[in-house]
Amino acid sequence: TCGICVEKCPFDAIEIINLPQELDDEPIHRYGENAFSLYGLPAPGDGRVTGILGPNGIGKTTAVHILADELTPNLGEYNADPGWDAVLEEYRGTALQDYLEALIDGDVTVARKPQYVDQIPDQFDGTTRQLLERTDERGELDALIERVGIGPVVDQDIGTLSGGELQRVALVAALARDADFYFLDEITPYLDIGQRMTAARIIQELAEDGDRSMLVVEHDLAILDLLADALHVAYGEPGAFGVITDPKSTKNGINEYLKGYLDNENMRIRQDAIEFEQHAPRSVAGGQSVVEYPALEKSYGEGEFSLSVAGGEIHEGEVLGVVGPNGIGKSTFAKLLAGRLEPDEGEIDARLDIAYKPQYVEIDQPMRVDAFLASITDEFGSSYWNTEIAQPLQLDRIMEQNLTDLSGGERQRVAIAACLSKDADLYLLDEPSAHLDVEQRVLATSAIRRYAENHDATAMVIDHDIYMIDLLSDRLLVFDGEPAERGHASEPQGMREGMNEFLANLDVTFRRDERTGRPRINKSGSNLDREQKQAGEYYYAP
Ligand code: ADP
Ligand code: ADP
Repeated sequence: TCGICVEKCPFDAIEIINLPQELDDEPIHRYGENAFSLYGLPAPGDGRVTGILGPNGIGKTTAVHILADELTPNLGEYNADPGWDAVLEEYRGTALQDYLEALIDGDVTVARKPQYVDQIPDQFDGTTRQLLERTDERGELDALIERVGIGPVVDQDIGTLSGGELQRVALVAALARDADFYFLDEITPYLDIGQRMTAARIIQELAEDGDRSMLVVEHDLAILDLLADALHVAYGEPGAFGVITDPKSTKNGINEYLKGYLDNENMRIRQDAIEFEQHAPRSVAGGQSVVEYPALEKSYGEGEFSLSVAGGEIHEGEVLGVVGPNGIGKSTFAKLLAGRLEPDEGEIDARLDIAYKPQYVEIDQPMRVDAFLASITDEFGSSYWNTEIAQPLQLDRIMEQNLTDLSGGERQRVAIAACLSKDADLYLLDEPSAHLDVEQRVLATSAIRRYAENHDATAMVIDHDIYMIDLLSDRLLVFDGEPAERGHASEPQGMREGMNEFLANLDVTFRRDERTGRPRINKSGSNLDREQKQAGEYYYAP
Protein backbone atom coordinates (compact mmCIF):
# COMPACT_ATOMS: atom_id res chain seq x y z
CA THR A 1 0.00 0.00 0.00
CA CYS A 2 1.01 3.60 -0.40
CA GLY A 3 0.31 4.33 3.26
CA ILE A 4 -2.98 6.06 2.61
CA CYS A 5 -5.26 3.14 1.93
CA VAL A 6 -6.13 0.90 4.82
CA GLU A 7 -6.28 -2.39 2.99
CA LYS A 8 -5.57 -3.02 -0.64
CA CYS A 9 -4.70 -0.23 -2.99
CA PRO A 10 -7.92 0.82 -4.74
CA PHE A 11 -5.92 2.38 -7.56
CA ASP A 12 -4.54 0.16 -10.28
CA ALA A 13 -1.36 2.09 -10.21
CA ILE A 14 -0.40 4.99 -8.07
CA GLU A 15 -0.62 7.33 -11.02
CA ILE A 16 -3.05 9.64 -9.34
CA ILE A 17 -1.42 12.92 -8.81
CA ASN A 18 -0.98 14.33 -5.35
CA LEU A 19 -2.97 12.20 -2.98
CA PRO A 20 -3.26 14.28 0.15
CA GLN A 21 0.17 14.53 1.65
CA GLU A 22 1.70 17.00 3.94
CA LEU A 23 2.83 20.13 2.16
CA ASP A 24 6.43 21.24 1.92
CA ASP A 25 5.55 24.75 3.02
CA GLU A 26 5.61 25.86 6.61
CA PRO A 27 2.26 25.44 8.34
CA ILE A 28 0.47 28.34 9.93
CA HIS A 29 0.47 26.39 13.16
CA ARG A 30 1.90 23.18 14.53
CA TYR A 31 0.83 21.99 18.00
CA GLY A 32 4.16 20.26 18.69
CA GLU A 33 6.63 17.76 17.37
CA ASN A 34 4.75 15.19 15.28
CA ALA A 35 1.53 16.90 16.34
CA PHE A 36 -1.27 18.22 14.17
CA SER A 37 -0.29 20.96 11.69
CA LEU A 38 -2.57 23.39 9.94
CA TYR A 39 -1.84 24.88 6.53
CA GLY A 40 -3.74 27.94 5.40
CA LEU A 41 -6.49 29.95 7.02
CA PRO A 42 -10.00 30.86 5.92
CA ALA A 43 -10.46 34.50 5.01
CA PRO A 44 -13.60 36.06 6.52
CA GLY A 45 -15.00 38.92 4.45
CA ASP A 46 -17.17 41.84 5.52
CA GLY A 47 -20.77 41.43 4.46
CA ARG A 48 -20.18 37.86 3.40
CA VAL A 49 -20.88 34.34 4.52
CA THR A 50 -17.78 32.19 4.11
CA GLY A 51 -18.19 28.44 4.35
CA ILE A 52 -15.73 25.73 5.29
CA LEU A 53 -16.33 22.27 3.90
CA GLY A 54 -14.29 19.34 5.09
CA PRO A 55 -14.05 16.40 7.45
CA ASN A 56 -13.94 16.52 11.23
CA GLY A 57 -10.49 16.70 12.82
CA ILE A 58 -8.96 18.67 9.96
CA GLY A 59 -8.22 21.87 11.87
CA LYS A 60 -11.33 24.00 11.41
CA THR A 61 -11.61 24.81 15.11
CA THR A 62 -7.89 25.51 15.28
CA ALA A 63 -8.28 28.01 12.44
CA VAL A 64 -11.09 29.74 14.27
CA HIS A 65 -9.08 29.94 17.51
CA ILE A 66 -6.46 31.78 15.47
CA LEU A 67 -8.95 34.13 13.82
CA ALA A 68 -10.47 34.87 17.24
CA ASP A 69 -7.02 35.70 18.70
CA GLU A 70 -7.29 32.85 21.20
CA LEU A 71 -4.29 31.10 19.71
CA THR A 72 -1.26 32.90 18.35
CA PRO A 73 -0.04 30.81 15.44
CA ASN A 74 3.60 29.70 15.55
CA LEU A 75 4.24 29.19 11.82
CA GLY A 76 5.38 25.68 12.64
CA GLU A 77 8.03 26.83 15.12
CA TYR A 78 6.44 25.23 18.14
CA ASN A 79 9.56 25.80 20.27
CA ALA A 80 9.82 29.46 19.44
CA ASP A 81 7.17 32.11 19.55
CA PRO A 82 7.49 34.12 16.37
CA GLY A 83 4.48 36.25 17.34
CA TRP A 84 1.76 38.00 15.35
CA ASP A 85 4.10 40.34 13.46
CA ALA A 86 5.85 37.42 11.80
CA VAL A 87 2.46 35.98 10.89
CA LEU A 88 1.31 39.27 9.42
CA GLU A 89 4.49 39.43 7.34
CA GLU A 90 3.64 35.98 6.00
CA TYR A 91 0.11 37.03 5.02
CA ARG A 92 0.90 40.48 3.62
CA GLY A 93 -0.79 40.94 0.27
CA THR A 94 -3.35 38.19 0.84
CA ALA A 95 -7.07 38.42 1.51
CA LEU A 96 -6.31 38.02 5.21
CA GLN A 97 -4.03 41.03 5.63
CA ASP A 98 -6.74 43.51 6.61
CA TYR A 99 -8.40 41.07 8.95
CA LEU A 100 -5.17 40.19 10.73
CA GLU A 101 -4.19 43.84 11.08
CA ALA A 102 -7.52 44.60 12.73
CA LEU A 103 -7.15 41.54 14.92
CA ILE A 104 -3.71 42.58 16.13
CA ASP A 105 -5.02 46.07 16.88
CA GLY A 106 -7.70 44.47 19.03
CA ASP A 107 -10.45 45.72 16.73
CA VAL A 108 -12.18 42.42 16.08
CA THR A 109 -14.96 41.13 18.30
CA VAL A 110 -16.07 37.54 17.90
CA ALA A 111 -19.34 35.72 18.57
CA ARG A 112 -19.64 31.98 18.15
CA LYS A 113 -22.10 29.15 18.15
CA PRO A 114 -20.61 25.94 19.52
CA GLN A 115 -20.87 22.66 17.61
CA TYR A 116 -22.42 20.55 20.36
CA VAL A 117 -25.56 22.24 21.61
CA ASP A 118 -26.51 19.27 23.79
CA GLN A 119 -23.97 20.49 26.35
CA ILE A 120 -25.58 23.89 26.89
CA PRO A 121 -27.83 22.72 29.78
CA ASP A 122 -24.71 21.44 31.63
CA GLN A 123 -23.17 24.89 31.53
CA PHE A 124 -26.15 27.01 32.36
CA ASP A 125 -29.01 26.96 34.86
CA GLY A 126 -32.15 28.99 34.45
CA THR A 127 -34.69 29.77 31.80
CA THR A 128 -33.98 30.15 28.13
CA ARG A 129 -34.85 33.84 28.34
CA GLN A 130 -32.33 34.41 31.14
CA LEU A 131 -29.63 32.83 29.00
CA LEU A 132 -30.55 34.81 25.91
CA GLU A 133 -30.92 38.18 27.62
CA ARG A 134 -27.21 38.23 28.36
CA THR A 135 -26.52 38.12 24.63
CA ASP A 136 -28.90 40.86 23.51
CA GLU A 137 -26.28 43.38 22.38
CA ARG A 138 -28.09 44.61 19.28
CA GLY A 139 -31.64 44.90 20.62
CA GLU A 140 -32.78 42.25 18.14
CA LEU A 141 -33.40 39.44 20.57
CA ASP A 142 -37.19 39.35 20.42
CA ALA A 143 -37.20 39.49 16.63
CA LEU A 144 -34.76 36.60 16.43
CA ILE A 145 -36.73 34.51 18.93
CA GLU A 146 -39.85 35.07 16.86
CA ARG A 147 -38.21 34.21 13.54
CA VAL A 148 -36.68 30.92 14.62
CA GLY A 149 -39.89 29.94 16.41
CA ILE A 150 -38.63 29.39 19.95
CA GLY A 151 -41.18 31.76 21.48
CA PRO A 152 -43.20 28.92 23.07
CA VAL A 153 -40.17 27.67 25.04
CA VAL A 154 -38.32 30.85 26.11
CA ASP A 155 -39.77 30.78 29.58
CA GLN A 156 -38.96 27.13 30.12
CA ASP A 157 -35.96 25.91 32.03
CA ILE A 158 -33.11 25.37 29.58
CA GLY A 159 -32.76 21.77 30.78
CA THR A 160 -36.20 20.88 29.37
CA LEU A 161 -35.48 21.86 25.74
CA SER A 162 -35.13 19.37 22.88
CA GLY A 163 -32.02 19.31 20.69
CA GLY A 164 -33.78 21.15 17.90
CA GLU A 165 -34.82 23.88 20.33
CA LEU A 166 -31.33 24.11 21.82
CA GLN A 167 -29.84 24.44 18.35
CA ARG A 168 -32.04 27.47 17.65
CA VAL A 169 -31.38 28.96 21.09
CA ALA A 170 -27.63 28.65 20.47
CA LEU A 171 -27.97 30.27 17.07
CA VAL A 172 -29.99 33.16 18.49
CA ALA A 173 -27.47 33.56 21.34
CA ALA A 174 -24.65 34.01 18.82
CA LEU A 175 -26.52 36.20 16.34
CA ALA A 176 -27.96 38.51 19.04
CA ARG A 177 -24.43 39.66 19.83
CA ASP A 178 -22.84 42.73 18.30
CA ALA A 179 -19.70 41.30 16.72
CA ASP A 180 -17.54 41.82 13.64
CA PHE A 181 -16.88 38.15 13.14
CA TYR A 182 -19.36 35.34 13.79
CA PHE A 183 -18.27 31.75 13.80
CA LEU A 184 -21.07 29.22 13.46
CA ASP A 185 -19.97 25.62 13.88
CA GLU A 186 -22.72 23.53 12.25
CA ILE A 187 -26.15 25.09 12.20
CA THR A 188 -28.31 22.20 10.98
CA PRO A 189 -28.21 19.27 13.44
CA TYR A 190 -31.71 18.50 14.79
CA LEU A 191 -33.38 21.14 12.62
CA ASP A 192 -35.88 20.28 9.89
CA ILE A 193 -35.48 21.71 6.41
CA GLY A 194 -37.77 24.67 6.97
CA GLN A 195 -35.83 25.60 10.12
CA ARG A 196 -32.52 25.14 8.27
CA MET A 197 -33.59 27.50 5.52
CA THR A 198 -34.80 30.10 8.01
CA ALA A 199 -31.48 29.94 9.86
CA ALA A 200 -29.61 30.38 6.56
CA ARG A 201 -31.66 33.43 5.65
CA ILE A 202 -31.12 35.13 9.02
CA ILE A 203 -27.37 34.58 8.81
CA GLN A 204 -27.22 36.02 5.29
CA GLU A 205 -29.20 39.07 6.29
CA LEU A 206 -26.98 39.79 9.26
CA ALA A 207 -23.92 39.56 7.02
CA GLU A 208 -25.35 41.80 4.30
CA ASP A 209 -27.21 44.39 6.32
CA GLY A 210 -24.73 44.66 9.15
CA ASP A 211 -21.62 44.36 7.00
CA ARG A 212 -20.40 41.60 9.28
CA SER A 213 -18.31 38.48 8.55
CA MET A 214 -19.80 35.05 8.96
CA LEU A 215 -17.76 31.89 8.95
CA VAL A 216 -19.82 28.72 8.84
CA VAL A 217 -18.83 25.07 9.09
CA GLU A 218 -21.61 22.96 7.63
CA HIS A 219 -22.01 19.41 6.33
CA ASP A 220 -25.54 19.70 4.89
CA LEU A 221 -24.50 20.54 1.35
CA ALA A 222 -27.88 21.76 0.11
CA ILE A 223 -27.94 24.31 2.93
CA LEU A 224 -24.26 25.23 2.60
CA ASP A 225 -24.88 25.84 -1.09
CA LEU A 226 -27.74 28.16 -0.26
CA LEU A 227 -25.93 29.95 2.54
CA ALA A 228 -22.32 30.62 1.59
CA ASP A 229 -20.98 33.35 -0.70
CA ALA A 230 -17.59 31.64 -0.92
CA LEU A 231 -16.15 28.37 0.25
CA HIS A 232 -12.86 27.02 1.57
CA VAL A 233 -12.38 23.29 1.24
CA ALA A 234 -10.43 21.63 4.04
CA TYR A 235 -8.60 18.40 3.33
CA GLY A 236 -5.70 16.38 4.66
CA GLU A 237 -5.44 13.58 7.15
CA PRO A 238 -7.68 14.05 10.16
CA GLY A 239 -5.61 14.23 13.32
CA ALA A 240 -2.32 14.59 11.41
CA PHE A 241 -2.52 17.63 9.18
CA GLY A 242 -5.10 19.83 7.52
CA VAL A 243 -4.98 22.18 4.56
CA ILE A 244 -7.48 24.98 4.09
CA THR A 245 -7.65 25.98 0.43
CA ASP A 246 -7.92 29.46 -0.97
CA PRO A 247 -11.56 30.50 -1.35
CA LYS A 248 -13.57 29.01 -4.20
CA SER A 249 -17.02 29.89 -5.44
CA THR A 250 -19.53 27.94 -3.37
CA LYS A 251 -20.77 26.09 -6.43
CA ASN A 252 -17.32 25.02 -7.60
CA GLY A 253 -16.16 24.20 -4.09
CA ILE A 254 -19.05 21.80 -3.52
CA ASN A 255 -18.77 20.31 -7.01
CA GLU A 256 -15.05 19.68 -6.63
CA TYR A 257 -15.58 18.23 -3.19
CA LEU A 258 -18.23 15.82 -4.48
CA LYS A 259 -16.06 14.89 -7.46
CA GLY A 260 -13.23 14.16 -5.02
CA TYR A 261 -10.79 16.31 -6.97
CA LEU A 262 -9.74 19.90 -6.27
CA ASP A 263 -8.98 21.66 -9.55
CA ASN A 264 -6.71 24.53 -8.50
CA GLU A 265 -4.85 22.45 -5.98
CA ASN A 266 -4.52 19.54 -8.42
CA MET A 267 -5.40 17.28 -5.53
CA ARG A 268 -7.43 14.10 -5.33
CA ILE A 269 -9.13 13.92 -1.96
CA ARG A 270 -11.29 10.84 -2.52
CA GLN A 271 -11.19 7.84 -4.81
CA ASP A 272 -14.81 7.96 -6.00
CA ALA A 273 -17.12 10.78 -6.87
CA ILE A 274 -20.36 11.16 -4.94
CA GLU A 275 -23.09 11.14 -7.59
CA PHE A 276 -26.81 11.82 -7.67
CA GLU A 277 -29.37 10.40 -10.04
CA GLN A 278 -31.00 13.12 -12.09
CA HIS A 279 -34.03 11.01 -12.81
CA ALA A 280 -36.08 9.21 -10.27
CA PRO A 281 -35.10 5.55 -9.99
CA ARG A 282 -37.78 3.26 -11.38
CA SER A 283 -40.06 2.14 -8.61
CA VAL A 284 -38.92 -1.22 -7.42
CA ALA A 285 -41.61 -3.88 -7.55
CA GLY A 286 -40.70 -4.65 -3.96
CA GLY A 287 -39.64 -7.73 -2.12
CA GLN A 288 -41.68 -9.57 0.44
CA SER A 289 -43.63 -7.58 2.90
CA VAL A 290 -42.12 -6.96 6.33
CA VAL A 291 -45.27 -5.37 7.62
CA GLU A 292 -48.60 -4.34 6.21
CA TYR A 293 -50.65 -1.94 8.26
CA PRO A 294 -54.14 -0.45 7.89
CA ALA A 295 -55.04 3.22 8.34
CA LEU A 296 -54.14 4.23 11.89
CA GLU A 297 -55.15 7.01 14.26
CA LYS A 298 -53.42 8.04 17.44
CA SER A 299 -53.86 11.05 19.65
CA TYR A 300 -52.21 11.90 22.94
CA GLY A 301 -55.41 13.02 24.62
CA GLU A 302 -58.06 15.66 24.27
CA GLY A 303 -56.78 18.68 22.35
CA GLU A 304 -53.23 17.34 22.19
CA PHE A 305 -51.29 16.11 19.19
CA SER A 306 -53.07 13.68 16.87
CA LEU A 307 -51.68 11.59 14.04
CA SER A 308 -53.39 9.85 11.15
CA VAL A 309 -51.54 7.35 9.01
CA ALA A 310 -52.61 6.08 5.60
CA GLY A 311 -52.37 2.29 5.42
CA GLY A 312 -49.32 0.88 3.69
CA GLU A 313 -46.74 -1.82 3.34
CA ILE A 314 -43.02 -1.94 4.00
CA HIS A 315 -40.84 -4.30 1.98
CA GLU A 316 -37.91 -6.49 2.85
CA GLY A 317 -34.54 -5.15 1.86
CA GLU A 318 -35.65 -1.61 1.17
CA VAL A 319 -34.61 1.64 2.73
CA LEU A 320 -37.55 3.84 3.40
CA GLY A 321 -36.69 7.51 3.78
CA VAL A 322 -38.92 9.37 6.23
CA VAL A 323 -39.34 13.09 5.70
CA GLY A 324 -41.36 15.84 7.29
CA PRO A 325 -41.00 18.67 9.79
CA ASN A 326 -40.17 18.23 13.46
CA GLY A 327 -43.07 17.57 15.81
CA ILE A 328 -45.25 15.99 13.08
CA GLY A 329 -45.54 12.46 14.48
CA LYS A 330 -42.62 10.54 12.96
CA SER A 331 -41.47 9.09 16.27
CA THR A 332 -45.07 8.43 17.28
CA PHE A 333 -45.50 6.32 14.12
CA ALA A 334 -42.31 4.44 14.91
CA LYS A 335 -43.62 3.63 18.39
CA LEU A 336 -46.87 2.36 16.89
CA LEU A 337 -44.91 0.04 14.59
CA ALA A 338 -42.80 -1.18 17.50
CA GLY A 339 -45.92 -1.92 19.57
CA ARG A 340 -44.80 0.52 22.24
CA LEU A 341 -47.94 2.60 21.69
CA GLU A 342 -51.42 1.29 20.91
CA PRO A 343 -53.28 3.03 18.09
CA ASP A 344 -56.73 4.46 18.89
CA GLU A 345 -57.96 3.12 15.59
CA GLY A 346 -56.60 0.41 13.33
CA GLU A 347 -54.48 -2.51 14.37
CA ILE A 348 -51.04 -3.72 13.46
CA ASP A 349 -50.89 -7.52 13.31
CA ALA A 350 -47.19 -8.06 13.29
CA ARG A 351 -45.19 -7.28 16.38
CA LEU A 352 -42.05 -6.16 14.68
CA ASP A 353 -38.68 -6.40 16.27
CA ILE A 354 -37.37 -2.91 15.88
CA ALA A 355 -33.84 -1.68 16.49
CA TYR A 356 -34.02 2.02 17.15
CA LYS A 357 -31.43 4.77 17.08
CA PRO A 358 -32.99 7.84 18.66
CA GLN A 359 -32.40 11.37 17.41
CA TYR A 360 -30.57 12.43 20.55
CA VAL A 361 -27.92 9.89 21.27
CA GLU A 362 -27.39 9.30 24.95
CA ILE A 363 -24.86 6.58 25.56
CA ASP A 364 -22.79 7.82 28.45
CA GLN A 365 -22.05 4.67 30.42
CA PRO A 366 -18.50 4.66 31.74
CA MET A 367 -17.56 1.88 29.36
CA ARG A 368 -15.22 1.41 26.44
CA VAL A 369 -16.61 1.42 22.90
CA ASP A 370 -15.43 -2.14 22.20
CA ALA A 371 -16.98 -3.48 25.42
CA PHE A 372 -20.22 -1.68 24.69
CA LEU A 373 -20.51 -3.05 21.15
CA ALA A 374 -19.44 -6.55 22.22
CA SER A 375 -22.28 -6.52 24.74
CA ILE A 376 -24.74 -6.00 21.90
CA THR A 377 -23.70 -8.62 19.39
CA ASP A 378 -21.83 -11.91 19.35
CA GLU A 379 -20.71 -10.95 15.87
CA PHE A 380 -18.49 -8.23 17.33
CA GLY A 381 -14.99 -8.54 15.92
CA SER A 382 -15.91 -11.09 13.21
CA SER A 383 -14.56 -10.26 9.79
CA TYR A 384 -18.09 -9.83 8.55
CA TRP A 385 -18.95 -7.34 11.28
CA ASN A 386 -15.67 -5.50 10.72
CA THR A 387 -16.29 -5.11 7.00
CA GLU A 388 -19.97 -4.27 7.18
CA ILE A 389 -20.06 -2.09 10.27
CA ALA A 390 -16.75 -1.15 11.88
CA GLN A 391 -14.98 -0.05 8.71
CA PRO A 392 -17.64 2.09 7.05
CA LEU A 393 -18.41 3.71 10.39
CA GLN A 394 -14.69 4.31 11.05
CA LEU A 395 -14.79 2.73 14.48
CA ASP A 396 -11.24 1.33 14.53
CA ARG A 397 -9.66 4.44 15.92
CA ILE A 398 -12.13 4.88 18.76
CA MET A 399 -12.63 1.29 19.96
CA GLU A 400 -10.50 1.81 23.06
CA GLN A 401 -12.01 5.11 24.09
CA ASN A 402 -14.63 5.56 26.77
CA LEU A 403 -18.15 6.32 25.63
CA THR A 404 -18.12 9.40 27.84
CA ASP A 405 -15.09 10.87 26.03
CA LEU A 406 -16.51 10.66 22.52
CA SER A 407 -17.26 13.69 20.36
CA GLY A 408 -20.78 14.10 18.95
CA GLY A 409 -19.83 12.58 15.58
CA GLU A 410 -18.06 9.65 17.21
CA ARG A 411 -21.01 8.97 19.48
CA GLN A 412 -23.33 9.06 16.47
CA ARG A 413 -21.25 6.43 14.65
CA VAL A 414 -21.21 4.17 17.71
CA ALA A 415 -24.98 4.54 18.05
CA ILE A 416 -25.54 3.65 14.37
CA ALA A 417 -23.27 0.62 14.79
CA ALA A 418 -25.13 -0.44 17.94
CA CYS A 419 -28.47 -0.19 16.14
CA LEU A 420 -27.35 -2.16 13.07
CA SER A 421 -25.69 -4.80 15.25
CA LYS A 422 -28.98 -5.85 16.76
CA ASP A 423 -31.08 -8.65 15.36
CA ALA A 424 -34.25 -7.01 14.11
CA ASP A 425 -36.85 -6.89 11.33
CA LEU A 426 -36.76 -3.15 11.05
CA TYR A 427 -33.91 -0.74 11.70
CA LEU A 428 -35.19 2.68 12.52
CA LEU A 429 -32.60 5.44 12.50
CA ASP A 430 -33.59 8.92 13.55
CA GLU A 431 -31.28 11.56 12.08
CA PRO A 432 -28.12 9.52 11.58
CA SER A 433 -26.51 12.48 9.78
CA ALA A 434 -26.29 14.68 12.88
CA HIS A 435 -22.66 15.71 13.52
CA LEU A 436 -21.28 13.48 10.77
CA ASP A 437 -19.12 15.08 8.10
CA VAL A 438 -19.90 14.54 4.44
CA GLU A 439 -17.61 11.52 4.04
CA GLN A 440 -19.07 9.91 7.12
CA ARG A 441 -22.61 10.55 5.88
CA VAL A 442 -21.84 8.80 2.62
CA LEU A 443 -20.16 5.85 4.36
CA ALA A 444 -22.99 5.53 6.89
CA THR A 445 -25.49 5.64 4.01
CA SER A 446 -23.90 2.70 2.24
CA ALA A 447 -23.52 0.75 5.49
CA ILE A 448 -27.24 1.16 6.19
CA ARG A 449 -28.22 0.23 2.63
CA ARG A 450 -26.03 -2.84 2.48
CA TYR A 451 -27.18 -3.99 5.88
CA ALA A 452 -30.85 -3.84 4.96
CA GLU A 453 -30.21 -5.74 1.72
CA ASN A 454 -28.04 -8.45 3.22
CA HIS A 455 -30.31 -9.12 6.16
CA ASP A 456 -33.64 -9.08 4.38
CA ALA A 457 -34.46 -6.39 6.85
CA THR A 458 -35.83 -2.95 6.28
CA ALA A 459 -34.31 0.33 7.26
CA MET A 460 -36.42 3.38 7.93
CA VAL A 461 -34.33 6.50 8.07
CA ILE A 462 -35.62 9.82 9.31
CA ASP A 463 -33.33 12.61 8.15
CA HIS A 464 -33.42 16.25 7.08
CA ASP A 465 -30.30 16.24 4.90
CA ILE A 466 -31.85 16.05 1.45
CA TYR A 467 -28.64 14.74 -0.15
CA MET A 468 -28.50 11.92 2.37
CA ILE A 469 -32.18 11.09 1.88
CA ASP A 470 -31.62 11.06 -1.89
CA LEU A 471 -28.57 8.75 -1.71
CA LEU A 472 -30.22 6.48 0.83
CA SER A 473 -33.85 5.91 -0.01
CA ASP A 474 -35.69 3.48 -2.25
CA ARG A 475 -39.05 4.98 -1.34
CA LEU A 476 -40.33 7.79 0.84
CA LEU A 477 -42.79 8.12 3.68
CA VAL A 478 -43.96 11.73 3.77
CA PHE A 479 -45.36 13.44 6.86
CA ASP A 480 -47.19 16.75 6.79
CA GLY A 481 -49.67 18.69 8.91
CA GLU A 482 -49.30 21.27 11.65
CA PRO A 483 -46.36 20.51 13.98
CA ALA A 484 -47.39 19.85 17.60
CA GLU A 485 -51.08 19.86 16.56
CA ARG A 486 -51.79 17.24 13.95
CA GLY A 487 -49.80 15.10 11.57
CA HIS A 488 -50.55 12.93 8.57
CA ALA A 489 -48.40 10.19 7.08
CA SER A 490 -48.84 9.23 3.44
CA GLU A 491 -48.49 5.67 2.27
CA PRO A 492 -44.90 4.84 1.28
CA GLN A 493 -44.36 6.06 -2.28
CA GLY A 494 -41.80 6.18 -5.06
CA MET A 495 -39.01 8.77 -4.95
CA ARG A 496 -40.49 11.11 -7.57
CA GLU A 497 -43.99 11.21 -6.06
CA GLY A 498 -42.60 11.37 -2.54
CA MET A 499 -40.18 14.21 -3.25
CA ASN A 500 -42.88 16.12 -5.08
CA GLU A 501 -45.29 15.83 -2.18
CA PHE A 502 -42.67 16.64 0.45
CA LEU A 503 -41.19 19.64 -1.37
CA ALA A 504 -44.60 20.99 -2.39
CA ASN A 505 -45.44 21.13 1.33
CA LEU A 506 -42.25 23.12 1.85
CA ASP A 507 -42.75 25.21 -1.29
CA VAL A 508 -39.16 24.51 -2.36
CA THR A 509 -37.89 23.31 -5.76
CA PHE A 510 -34.47 21.96 -6.77
CA ARG A 511 -32.63 22.38 -10.07
CA ARG A 512 -29.70 20.31 -11.25
CA ASP A 513 -26.15 21.57 -11.43
CA GLU A 514 -25.28 21.41 -15.12
CA ARG A 515 -21.89 19.83 -14.57
CA THR A 516 -22.49 17.28 -11.84
CA GLY A 517 -26.25 16.80 -11.74
CA ARG A 518 -26.30 17.55 -8.05
CA PRO A 519 -29.57 19.02 -6.73
CA ARG A 520 -29.49 22.73 -5.81
CA ILE A 521 -32.25 24.70 -4.09
CA ASN A 522 -33.91 27.16 -6.49
CA LYS A 523 -34.28 30.75 -5.51
CA SER A 524 -37.89 31.26 -4.52
CA GLY A 525 -39.75 33.01 -7.35
CA SER A 526 -37.01 32.45 -9.95
CA ASN A 527 -38.07 31.36 -13.44
CA LEU A 528 -37.09 27.77 -12.82
CA ASP A 529 -38.85 27.76 -9.47
CA ARG A 530 -42.06 28.96 -11.05
CA GLU A 531 -41.83 26.62 -14.06
CA GLN A 532 -41.14 23.58 -11.94
CA LYS A 533 -43.97 24.35 -9.55
CA GLN A 534 -46.33 24.71 -12.47
CA ALA A 535 -45.18 21.37 -13.88
CA GLY A 536 -45.40 19.78 -10.43
CA GLU A 537 -41.76 18.65 -10.67
CA TYR A 538 -40.05 19.75 -7.48
CA TYR A 539 -36.99 17.56 -7.53
CA TYR A 540 -36.30 15.32 -10.52
CA ALA A 541 -35.84 16.68 -14.00
CA PRO A 542 -39.02 16.09 -16.01
P1 ADP B 1 -11.89 20.26 13.50
O1 ADP B 1 -12.47 21.51 14.06
O2 ADP B 1 -11.71 20.30 12.01
O3 ADP B 1 -12.66 19.02 13.91
P2 ADP B 1 -9.66 20.75 15.31
O4 ADP B 1 -9.05 22.05 14.91
O5 ADP B 1 -10.52 20.74 16.52
O6 ADP B 1 -10.38 20.09 14.07
O7 ADP B 1 -8.50 19.70 15.59
C1 ADP B 1 -7.55 19.32 14.60
C2 ADP B 1 -6.52 18.38 15.23
O8 ADP B 1 -5.71 19.14 16.13
C3 ADP B 1 -7.12 17.25 16.03
O9 ADP B 1 -6.41 16.07 15.73
C4 ADP B 1 -6.90 17.66 17.47
O10 ADP B 1 -6.73 16.51 18.27
C5 ADP B 1 -5.60 18.46 17.38
N1 ADP B 1 -5.53 19.46 18.46
C6 ADP B 1 -6.47 20.37 18.78
N2 ADP B 1 -6.06 21.14 19.82
C7 ADP B 1 -4.85 20.70 20.16
C8 ADP B 1 -3.89 21.06 21.17
N3 ADP B 1 -4.12 22.08 22.01
N4 ADP B 1 -2.75 20.37 21.22
C9 ADP B 1 -2.49 19.34 20.37
N5 ADP B 1 -3.35 18.94 19.41
C10 ADP B 1 -4.51 19.60 19.30
P1 ADP C 1 -41.49 13.97 15.32
O1 ADP C 1 -40.86 12.64 15.55
O2 ADP C 1 -42.05 14.15 13.95
O3 ADP C 1 -40.61 15.13 15.71
P2 ADP C 1 -43.20 13.20 17.56
O4 ADP C 1 -43.95 11.98 17.13
O5 ADP C 1 -42.03 13.01 18.47
O6 ADP C 1 -42.78 14.05 16.27
O7 ADP C 1 -44.18 14.20 18.30
C1 ADP C 1 -45.34 14.74 17.68
C2 ADP C 1 -46.06 15.64 18.68
O8 ADP C 1 -46.57 14.84 19.74
C3 ADP C 1 -45.15 16.67 19.35
O9 ADP C 1 -45.87 17.87 19.48
C4 ADP C 1 -44.89 16.06 20.72
O10 ADP C 1 -44.66 17.09 21.67
C5 ADP C 1 -46.16 15.31 21.00
N1 ADP C 1 -45.93 14.16 21.88
C6 ADP C 1 -45.02 13.19 21.71
N2 ADP C 1 -45.11 12.26 22.69
C7 ADP C 1 -46.10 12.66 23.52
C8 ADP C 1 -46.70 12.14 24.71
N3 ADP C 1 -46.26 10.99 25.26
N4 ADP C 1 -47.69 12.84 25.27
C9 ADP C 1 -48.15 13.98 24.73
N5 ADP C 1 -47.64 14.53 23.60
C10 ADP C 1 -46.65 13.87 23.00
